[in-house]
Amino acid sequence: MKALVIEDTQTGLALVKQCLARINIASVLATDGVSGLEKFRDHKPDMVILDIVLPDMDGFEVARRIRASEKAGEWTPILFLTGLTGEQDLERAIAAGGDDYLIKPISEIVLTAKVRAMQRILQMRQSLVVMARKLDSANRELTRLSAVDGLTGVANRRQLELMLDREWRRCARARQSMAVLIADVDSFKLYNDYYGHLAGDECLKAVAQALLRQLRRPSDFLARYGGEEFAAVLPNTDTEGVARLAEAMCQAVRDLSMPHLGTEPSGSVTVSIGVAAALPQPGTSSQAIKALLARADTALYSAKRLGRDQVAIAEVDDAAKLVGQAG
Ligand code: GH3
Ligand code: MG
Ligand code: MG
Ligand code: MG
Repeated sequence: MKALVIEDTQTGLALVKQCLARINIASVLATDGVSGLEKFRDHKPDMVILDIVLPDMDGFEVARRIRASEKAGEWTPILFLTGLTGEQDLERAIAAGGDDYLIKPISEIVLTAKVRAMQRILQMRQSLVVMARKLDSANRELTRLSAVDGLTGVANRRQLELMLDREWRRCARARQSMAVLIADVDSFKLYNDYYGHLAGDECLKAVAQALLRQLRRPSDFLARYGGEEFAAVLPNTDTEGVARLAEAMCQAVRDLSMPHLGTEPSGSVTVSIGVAAALPQPGTSSQAIKALLARADTALYSAKRLGRDQVAIAEVDDAAKLVGQAG
């Protein structure tokens, strides 16, 4: 611990320094306001013991400048030291940013006691700062965990719902089309049966990353929708745009070339994808979002029925139309 002592008499300085040394506090000494402020800046003391009557400026001014230089959340205790005994001086000292007041001639006992008390407040404050920092990082981690799917690392369903709602409103305001897609791993039950559940988990992670890599815009969003299903929200995207992206996703999963003996004829892990787009209307959201997802889901069902490993588009009239056959 280190204290800055700003006092213009050598005897005063020596006395304070000696008192502080006895309780293991090092002293940085200054004999006027300007050099005191410089040393405050350079040495970053834990505490300031400040005389009021100084040759260049008074201690009130020094205290005000110290307070003005502190950043938000910073605080260095200031203990005034003076021969002035009027109550108004005490009032001014506290108003200028002082924390306590000691009247000369200095009593070693009183000085030591006050410094100790100040030290205790500082330590308490320090542990509060540490605690607040821990709490802050724990809160951030909690938010992250509540937003992220533990297995695949992409957003979870809760986050998907928040994004759907937010982007729906934004697209409605901007009069832009919004698209969604639902991708489902083909014959995944068989994958687990052939390769085991742990391998199934690894497969889901790889598929999630392959899908994620296909997103091009910062506003595109992918989440785990359910067990082996993923959903993407694509603001400012029409049917053509989402179909193109879905084709790229299908290809990206094929390109993983993960063996899957349960699928015929590809023999590797594939996904089927249903896509749907809508022009969000202002003032509508949850029902309309559900309807959009339902259309994508119906399209997904069509893709499955038509042989899997392909994309199907939901028509506005809800009839899913096949757009791409596996190469
Ligand atoms: P389809 O091609 O029609 O989609 O057939 P499918 O077998 O993929 O569909 P189904 O819904 O019958 O099976 C999904 C399987 O996904 C069943 C379930 O055990 C598995 N699954 C869901 N979540 C996980 C997971 O987190 N890890 C693993 N390993 N498997 C999962
Ligand atoms: Mg003086
Ligand atoms: Mg499924
Ligand atoms: Mg499946």
